[in-house]
Amino acid sequence: MTDDWRTLDIANPTDEHSMLREMVRGFVSAEVEPQALEFNRDEKFNTSLFRTLGDSGLLGISVPSEYGGGGMDATAVAIINEELSYSDPAFCLAYLAHDQLMVNNLAQNGSHEQKSRILPKVCSGEWIGCMAMSEPDHGTDVMAMETHAIQRDDGNWVINGRKMWITNGAIDDSGTPADIVWLYARTGTDPKGRAEITTFLVEKGMDGYSVGQKIIDKLGMRASNTAELVFEDCIVPPENVVGSPGESMSHMMRNLELERLGLAAMALGISRRCLSVMNNYASERKAFGRSIREFGQIQRHIGESWAEYRAMRSYVYDTARQIDLSKSGNRLDSDGVKLFGTTISKHIADRAIQVLGGYGYVGEYIVERLWRDAKLLEIGGGTLEGHQKNIARDLKTSPGAIER
Ligand SMILES: Cc1cc2nc3c(=O)[nH]c(=O)nc-3n(C[C@H](O)[C@H](O)[C@H](O)COP(=O)(O)OP(=O)(O)OC[C@H]3O[C@@H](n4cnc5c(N)ncnc54)[C@H](O)[C@@H]3O)c2cc1C
Repeated sequence: MTDDWRTLDIANPTDEHSMLREMVRGFVSAEVEPQALEFNRDEKFNTSLFRTLGDSGLLGISVPSEYGGGGMDATAVAIINEELSYSDPAFCLAYLAHDQLMVNNLAQNGSHEQKSRILPKVCSGEWIGCMAMSEPDHGTDVMAMETHAIQRDDGNWVINGRKMWITNGAIDDSGTPADIVWLYARTGTDPKGRAEITTFLVEKGMDGYSVGQKIIDKLGMRASNTAELVFEDCIVPPENVVGSPGESMSHMMRNLELERLGLAAMALGISRRCLSVMNNYASERKAFGRSIREFGQIQRHIGESWAEYRAMRSYVYDTARQIDLSKSGNRLDSDGVKLFGTTISKHIADRAIQVLGGYGYVGEYIVERLWRDAKLLEIGGGTLEGHQKNIARDLKTSPGAIER
């Protein structure tokens, strides 16, 4: 037990974390906020702003510094996601897909050769990456994936299949694919009939890798690009296989824990912004000769949002503190915090719209965009129903977790 437990701020546990938050907050107010409304309206991904994140070391925050990264931890990931999502959750989603789904995955599981070759490019922003797991016919039921790979006699792998809903899959409207895809494909079946999954690093320019379509007209997260990717006799050399063939379930499961924490931290940023907007507005707006914050029903919106926001903040940073990026073992809380936080953020955004009345319903006042963005968090990285299923299963095998 440390002596400073009474003064510890769980969301900023060290000076390094506090400085990171301050730096990202400054960047968000100077660079992210001014462009958020326009890029949301136009459904465009701001690639040039995205690449500048590399200048401040954010594009591989958990990557060891020897490979060009920030050398930080899951708490740092949560801080960045919270701060970016305070202003522009879609921009943050692109960041999450790159930093947490692709870059961190490689840093944790890649060989020294793969890391030396690729990490400096993705950490600097020269390359933009994505992670492709979901398919047109298989999302939650991921182990039923149909994308498959066969190794030829010359050692190269041939991949066929389609991946759906891939954030950063296309980086522009002309169908330019991501520079690198962390791709999961089926390479066999184990004796119990379960899929054996292998990770491939597919690079732009490799034969047979292309964008099927950029998905448009999304409800929210409109400033992040979502695409279908096509792999048609795509040839990938053996040096681009991560780990041993057939053993990537562990990469997938471990990374999902960070992804879920990251999405919950996004929900936290949305909640803080919505609470701030509704709180300020409730003081300024008058009706019936009084400030609307004097009405009990408005007080309920603010009071409940504050309590839920505070509970979420504690749960997010308590979970972040426990995540060791090199190991799995936090599924209960990474599912739990995402299950709790994402729906709460949608409710807080909804209340903010309600408190602002008609003004809450238009883009300029931000909260309608945050409400639309919050909805995605209940689907991406695992649906609410998936989290409920996982938690119920884990509490059956580990009931002791309740009494800890
Ligand atoms: C904007 C956006 C960005 C995304 N980015 C990425 C990305 O970068 N990479 C990637 O790989 N994927 C990405 N996804 C895909 C996302 O992870 C999937 O949409 C999600 O996992 C759900 O899969 P699905 O859409 O196929 O729905 P399904 O799995 O078909 O689910 C449909 C419904 O059935 C329910 N359901 C399914 N199985 C069960 C069950 N056993 N018990 C109870 N209910 C169940 C679900 O909860 C849901 O309500 C993204 C999705 C979106 C919308």
